[in-house]
Amino acid sequence: MSTVIEVAPFVRIDDAVARARNAQAFYGDAPRGVRSALLRGLAEALERDAAQLVALADEETSLGGARLNGELARTAFQLRGFAERVEAGLAHRQVDDAAVPGAPPVGRPHLTRVLVPLGPVAMFSASNFPFAFSVLGGDTASSLAAGCTVIVKPHSGHPELSRRVHALAAGVLRDQGLHEGTIAFVDQASREAATHLVGHADVAAVAFTGSYQGGVALWRAANARRRPIPFYGELGSINPLVVSPQALAEGVETPAAALAASITVGCGQFCTSPGLIVVRDDEDGERFVAALSQALSAQTPHAMLTAAMRRGFESAAAHIAAQSGVIVRLAAPAQDAEAAAPAPRLYETDAASFIANAALHEEMFGPAALVVKVRDDAQTLDVLAAIEGSLTVTLWGAQADTASNRALAAASQRIAGRVLFGGVPTGVAVCDAQQHGGPWPASTQPQTTSVGYAAIERFLRPVALQDAPQWAIEANRAGAAA
Ligand code: NAP
Repeated sequence: MSTVIEVAPFVRIDDAVARARNAQAFYGDAPRGVRSALLRGLAEALERDAAQLVALADEETSLGGARLNGELARTAFQLRGFAERVEAGLAHRQVDDAAVPGAPPVGRPHLTRVLVPLGPVAMFSASNFPFAFSVLGGDTASSLAAGCTVIVKPHSGHPELSRRVHALAAGVLRDQGLHEGTIAFVDQASREAATHLVGHADVAAVAFTGSYQGGVALWRAANARRRPIPFYGELGSINPLVVSPQALAEGVETPAAALAASITVGCGQFCTSPGLIVVRDDEDGERFVAALSQALSAQTPHAMLTAAMRRGFESAAAHIAAQSGVIVRLAAPAQDAEAAAPAPRLYETDAASFIANAALHEEMFGPAALVVKVRDDAQTLDVLAAIEGSLTVTLWGAQADTASNRALAAASQRIAGRVLFGGVPTGVAVCDAQQHGGPWPASTQPQTTSVGYAAIERFLRPVALQDAPQWAIEANRAGAAA
């Protein structure tokens, strides 16, 4: 008689979460020097193995050596940046209000507002940044800086790289005498497994970058728990770029070339890719669109990250092309749908069609953009008002202090997390002032950022200590002595 051994379906996830929970008990209270040394150790480990890691990443993602080397350098830079800020006390800020004698509201007890780590964070790697938004990317760095252990859910688009980077991280943890669960790893990929992870009672928060559909499914799971938890999701963005007439005063070729390069960089697989171009319906506007179409046709994007994303791009582009009032300005060759590397596309519509049809507001994740021709400033504002949240809005030709530029800036700030007065939105600097988020669906939590050092705030919870003895205040300044 054979024996059937039953294994619980999510046993590996439960194990990983248990390891992260056990590690949290030490790591959450560890001196700040422990956290910063870990972050620095991880940066060094990445750099030490850069050549092999980049080669492996290229095999799995086709993103190319130059881009991947730059991304690895950025990932190490942000790990060190978080280390510096932990040392400077960013995760241990306190606000102190001395006691005031007398009756309220003037009189009050002594209050000290301190920060505590939320607890283990489930971190969903993104497909499109195999270093900077993956195993040791910004979400992991900011969680660790905040004193939260991390359970990494790798992305199925670069599985071997994820394993290799996690093995490096495990080596750093060992060398530094830290619990292996400080950075736990879930090597189990399925929709059900991901949902189980988000629903696990010991997970305290989720960080996610990916599709609208996947993000909303997991956001719902986080909110359907008996104890809902914060879900920091970045779900999609069309990144409008407004070309004011002033921007074309010195010709159309140079701005068109810069924009074509931004639309096609990384095969358009950037969350900040400019997907909506708002242009005046006049002669200069038309010359600009023609130059943009020409510049795009000269670009040869590389293969997309996964076959599923390639199919997704084809169907998103076809959906836009099929809408009423849409003109195809740059079509893909007939056999293009079969190729791993898609040809760039450019579509055009008018403001009224765009405003009336929500299907035209959807992201095409790949090398494509939709031009919207507008009559005047007022119609530009109407187009911006019709758009849901976006990571960025870029304003070209809005440098002068005029009433219409002020109105444009205000309208842009209402819908976006970052407003650029020039340049292109692809490329996001890692610094203290950075904001990478925006109203839904750019982010599920528009008051937070997933890039830059303010990202740490997502994983810290304020506690007010009232009339606390000095030792309790000192204890919360964890690691002040380290
Ligand atoms: P995705 O399909 O949303 O996958 C992201 C993560 O969520 C993966 O770990 C995936 O697991 C998991 N997941 C997806 N759907 C789920 C569901 N219904 N329930 C539970 N877990 C789920 O994103 P992607 O693979 O990176 O790319 C797919 C599309 O997302 C792209 O074509 C693009 O449209 C969009 N995207 C947007 C951005 C952006 O920044 N705006 C970035 C990346 C992707 P598995 O890996 O096991 O499938």
